[in-house]
Amino acid sequence: MSDFFDLTGHGAEPIRYEVRASSRRRTMSVEVHPDSRVVVRVPARCAPHAVAAWVQSRAKWIERQLERFRRRGPAAPPYRYVNGEAHRYLGARYPLLLVHGDTAGVELTGGQIVVSSRGSLDPGKVNALLRAWYFQRAVELFPVIVKERHAAFFERRGHPLPALAVKAMRRRWGSMSPRGRMCLNVDLVRAPRRCIDLVVTHELCHLEQKYHDAAFYRLLTEAMPDWKEWRVLLQAGGIEG
Ligand SMILES: [Zn+2]
Repeated sequence: MSDFFDLTGHGAEPIRYEVRASSRRRTMSVEVHPDSRVVVRVPARCAPHAVAAWVQSRAKWIERQLERFRRRGPAAPPYRYVNGEAHRYLGARYPLLLVHGDTAGVELTGGQIVVSSRGSLDPGKVNALLRAWYFQRAVELFPVIVKERHAAFFERRGHPLPALAVKAMRRRWGSMSPRGRMCLNVDLVRAPRRCIDLVVTHELCHLEQKYHDAAFYRLLTEAMPDWKEWRVLLQAGGIEG
């Protein structure tokens, strides 16, 4: 079940909220999402007036969360792929330099990411050239890092070096299949080297520990004692703009 209701009496405009009922649920909860959606989860067969009263009692809190997201403003604008725009590589920011010339390609040189083309340098073209370059850098760099992290800790525990694939992934930095095939997100190549080490070490730990339980984190801490520091950076947007 999913319904929409208006919460009135707080702020200038009524707050719209969605009610989702589930038979597995015993208590009520409310979530405020960054896109301003308010979702109230309730047990099945919960009387509508009881839900309304409960939400009303949380109205101030809901309003505060919505206000916080409003102040934060819209998400960072997408790249425009123009001269001088900063893009990241291994955690550092480099301005783009677009060059019309006799060659086509991308090169990191003189503190700039130089994008050359014989023809058009419209944003679509620059984006395509950059994506190909990031992918190439990732395909060259990631196997070296995996080999290094594997040799440093996992080899002597009897784990063979896993096969590796580099992919564009929307929601994850990496994964490890039950058969020991590692997959890494191409966008990691924009992050600081230690953040890449962390993701690789995390995935290697899955060779030994399937779930994210206490044993997993003990192993990760043994393999990379300062991992928490780098997770904070990775989560803080160590890779965006
Ligand atoms: Zn994991």
